[in-house]
Amino acid sequence: MPRLLRVLFQLLPQPAHVNVNGPFYSGNAFNSRLSMPNIGGFLPNTREARVTILLHELGHLIKGSDKRWLLPNDGGNDYLSQENTKHVIALCGDQIRHLSRISFARELQVARTTSSGSATNANVLKP
Ligand SMILES: [Zn+2]
Repeated sequence: MPRLLRVLFQLLPQPAHVNVNGPFYSGNAFNSRLSMPNIGGFLPNTREARVTILLHELGHLIKGSDKRWLLPNDGGNDYLSQENTKHVIALCGDQIRHLSRISFARELQVARTTSSGSATNANVLKP
């Protein structure tokens, strides 16, 4: 599990789980099983889909100033789940779509400059 995700899950007020057989980690390119669904219009197993999934799940775990969950419970109801995902996309879609313009090299560079403890590990990648 990526370090940022691990830290994020530790901050949550209750346990959160990622389905390793779902669109967070699995795409359709080498998948002979049933097709993975797109997440809010984003292809499965992409940075955009993962961020959308995480924001959706965070919306179930964080209360607003009115003491209500940011996203209502949608357990077992695909329609409500998709509506909640649409709400996430409506609020954060521009930022999520911007992620595709960030290269892996740039992401790694930012991780190096913002990470204190693992900077020496990142330096291993230098020739
Ligand atoms: Zn949900």
